[in-house]
Amino acid sequence: MGPLPAADGAYWYTYQRWWQTLQRGQSELLTVKFYGVRGSCPCSGADYVRYGGNTACVVLDNDGEILIFDLGTGLRPFGVDWIAANPGKPLAASALVTHTHWDHIQGLPFFGPLDHEEAVLDIFGPTEEGVSFRDVLTSSISPPLFPIGLGDFRGNIQAMDIPDSRFSLGSYSVTALPVPHVGATVGYRVETEVATVAYISDHQAPPGLDTIDEAVIELCQGADLLIHDSQYFSAEFEGKSDWGHCTIEYALLVAEKSDVSSLALFHHDPLHSDGVLDLVAESVAGSGEPGEMEVFVAFEGAQRKFGNQV
Ligand SMILES: [Zn+2]
Ligand SMILES: [Zn+2]
Repeated sequence: MGPLPAADGAYWYTYQRWWQTLQRGQSELLTVKFYGVRGSCPCSGADYVRYGGNTACVVLDNDGEILIFDLGTGLRPFGVDWIAANPGKPLAASALVTHTHWDHIQGLPFFGPLDHEEAVLDIFGPTEEGVSFRDVLTSSISPPLFPIGLGDFRGNIQAMDIPDSRFSLGSYSVTALPVPHVGATVGYRVETEVATVAYISDHQAPPGLDTIDEAVIELCQGADLLIHDSQYFSAEFEGKSDWGHCTIEYALLVAEKSDVSSLALFHHDPLHSDGVLDLVAESVAGSGEPGEMEVFVAFEGAQRKFGNQV
C-alpha cells in the first residue's frame, strides 16, 4: 500500500468515503425519491390520490448525504419522513433550487427538520437580474407574506447564489446551467460515483418543438436518470406555448437526443388527474427490452436506487 493521501481536499474526502464503504462491506448506494411531482400549484382531492398533489421536490440520498432538488410543498412530507427516521438528530443537507417560482420554494417554511437549533440547510439558486438568490428568497419568506423570516427559524438556513457552473457538494459533483423558462432558471446535473441524475423541472420548449438548447443537452447527456418537465399534451401547448413549459413528447425528444437510460415525466399540470396520468403511463410504456430507455410517470413515493450491495 502506498502512502496515505494528504489530509486535505477532495482526494482525502473520497479516500475517507472509500474506506468507510469498504468497512461496511458494500458499494455506494444512491437513492432518488420523489416527494413532490406536481407543477404550478399544489392540488388535493380524489383526482390526485395516486400521483400526488405536492409540488416539485426530489431527494437524493448518497449513503446518508442528503441533496434536495427544489423546495416545493413535497419538502414538507420529506421532513416528516426524515424526522421519523432520525429522531432528535439535527439535519445537515444541501438543496439545489432551479428558480424561485412558488411551486419550487413553498415547502421551505414547513420543513420540520429546521425546527432544531443545530440543523443546517445550505440552499443554492440562481441570481435573478442582479438580485441575489438570498434576497429573492428572503423577500418571499418574510412578514407579511409569512409570519417569520428566514433568519427566525431555529435551524440555520444559508441561501446562496450558485457559485459556478460546476462545483462540488460533498460527494456530489454538480453542474448548473441556464434553462429556457420564464425568469432566471437553471437545470442541474448531479454525478456521484454510481450514477448521474439530471433535473430539468421547468423547460420552455421552442415554438416548433423541434430544437433543444445546447445547455440542456449538456446537462442531460448520458444520464442514468433524467427528471424532466412534462406539463402539457400537444393540444394544451398550442394555447400555452409561452407559459414556460413543454409537452410530454418534447420531454421524450430531449431524453432520446441525450441518450439517457431512464426518463421520469415530472411537473404534471394541475389539470392532469390520476386517470389522465394513467393514460400517459400506458402510452409511454416500453417493451422492457434490454437497452431500451425506461420511461415512467413520476409519482409521490416513487424511488430509484443506483449502485449494488456486495
Ligand atoms: Zn414549476
Ligand atoms: Zn417556473
